[in-house]
Amino acid sequence: MEELRRRLVEDLSDTIEGELRVDPAAVAMFSSDASLYEIEPIAVVFPRQARDVEVIAAYSADNNIPLIARGAGSGLAGGAIGRGIVIDFSRHMNRVLWVDGDRVRVQPGVVREQLNRELRKHGRYFAPDPSNSRITTIGGMLGVDAAGSHAVRYGSTRDHVESIECVLSGGQRMELGREPLQLDPSAYPRMVDLEPLGGTTGGGSSVGATVSTAVRSDALKLSALTPATRRADLIQRVGSLLQEFEPVIKQYQPPLLRNCCGYMLRGIRQMQELDLARMLVGSEGTLGLFTEATLYTMPLPSFRAAACLMFKTLEQAVLAMQLLLPLEPSACDLLDRRVLSLGRGSDLRFRDMILPEAEAGLIIEFPGGSEREIRERLSDAQTLLKDREIDFQITREATTLEDVELLWALPSQVVSLLASLKGSSRPLPFVEDVAVPPEKLAEFLVSAQRIFQKHEVTATLYSHAASGQLHFRPILPVPDNGEETKIEAIARDLYRQVVQVGGSISGEHGDGLSRTAFIRTQYGPLYRAFQQLKEIFDPLKL
Ligand SMILES: Cc1cc2nc3c(=O)[nH]c(=O)nc-3n(C[C@H](O)[C@H](O)[C@H](O)COP(=O)(O)OP(=O)(O)OC[C@H]3O[C@@H](n4cnc5c(N)ncnc54)[C@H](O)[C@@H]3O)c2cc1C
Repeated sequence: MEELRRRLVEDLSDTIEGELRVDPAAVAMFSSDASLYEIEPIAVVFPRQARDVEVIAAYSADNNIPLIARGAGSGLAGGAIGRGIVIDFSRHMNRVLWVDGDRVRVQPGVVREQLNRELRKHGRYFAPDPSNSRITTIGGMLGVDAAGSHAVRYGSTRDHVESIECVLSGGQRMELGREPLQLDPSAYPRMVDLEPLGGTTGGGSSVGATVSTAVRSDALKLSALTPATRRADLIQRVGSLLQEFEPVIKQYQPPLLRNCCGYMLRGIRQMQELDLARMLVGSEGTLGLFTEATLYTMPLPSFRAAACLMFKTLEQAVLAMQLLLPLEPSACDLLDRRVLSLGRGSDLRFRDMILPEAEAGLIIEFPGGSEREIRERLSDAQTLLKDREIDFQITREATTLEDVELLWALPSQVVSLLASLKGSSRPLPFVEDVAVPPEKLAEFLVSAQRIFQKHEVTATLYSHAASGQLHFRPILPVPDNGEETKIEAIARDLYRQVVQVGGSISGEHGDGLSRTAFIRTQYGPLYRAFQQLKEIFDPLKL
């Protein structure tokens, strides 16, 4: 490892404008993210411009070294760590480049809150709303297709992207968005020399080792290809792949409000074009490194109203959420007793909002065109629940922007607290991202409780219930290396149930190290299409 690090410093330090670090402090700092995993990288690079990323990607292909893209490192699945070169986009590549009408051009290291501060001057905002907006970067949001409480109305990151500039393995940089499909394949230049690939490459013990002659010559060819050749080649091959797998995609990747497991192939190939930006979102740095993106923005909503509702049982809260969905709330989140009591103890502002005896709570929001309209919508919601004899109590209503934001500060603060709790047993993120069709939520919660009982664990639950997104954190001792049997068994049982109700094992946090091994369980024969897609973008499988 030290020899490899020395070689990297020699070969790269003077060829990039940014910094390359291999010292113990730097590699230790980038060995973890917000997941359970820890892997020491070989080196960390802080690129200053896209050209630095091109240089590193070409070098990595020539030398068989994996690259790991990183934003704020707040991912919960371990997608931003690995044995390779970590590329941290947050330090220097963090500028908003331009704002024009309903679009904005950004570098990947821009933090979502920073972006929205800039957009507010134009009366607009970037809608996908992960609860850790103060730290999450746009690159990370694109990486995992992040979403949040308002996904039921405004969708996820994928729904707000026009195009992405990315650097592929081999170092070619290109802008990918809606790409016209050339129906005559002979019109495309082919990378015939790269097919078929020889040998095995990528990751594991062969990292940075001298690779077989066959593979090495492929790598050299890969970095020698022009961006235009690779671009044309991949558009044609992705088009063919999506055509070939169309029936499998339809069957195994059904439409779900929340799903970022595997690659998104559904709806990418349309009549005459491929929406490649949409497909790249959620690829977790495994298809390319994003160096810029053009995003769609939305006008700031004029009026918002929200309410906090307390329930004596979790079942009543879920039933209330299902009854309220036809009123088209822009968000409806569910908090269980453990999450509520953490919130109650954490901040005086939440004390009178959270009844000590409550077993569950809902935070619901409605948008509207006038103050009168939003007040009416809140009142309609209450009337509906009373008519259906739901036992609930409204502890707070908010109709000013400030008060609405205070309500949303509750889940946001509690989620951060959950992630930072210390102690030998704590709420662990490993099945923290399942999503089910909202109408199956009640049924699924019963089976999930049974699974936790079987494994003799309790779990905290916070849920973007309106879109079927469930964040469970079973309370367990942090496993040491080799002691993961219990968490694997819980994950296996829970994921089987998720697939059975037509849900996704990963709704908005990505697969990373936690869930990649379960993608086959989720998708069956569609997994083969994912492998082929990976080969098109990254033939060396770095
Ligand atoms: C307290 C807390 C609350 C959270 N709340 C939410 C939530 O409400 N909703 C939600 O969706 N998630 C949530 N998350 C999960 C996570 O923070 C988000 O998914 C976030 O968007 C990740 O952003 P990041 O900048 O930290 O990315 P990182 O963790 O650094 O990276 C995430 C993934 O994106 C890839 N990536 C990063 N930059 C690039 C790039 N330039 N090019 C290509 N790939 C790239 C990485 O390789 C990795 O696979 C939460 C996490 C925590 C700890």
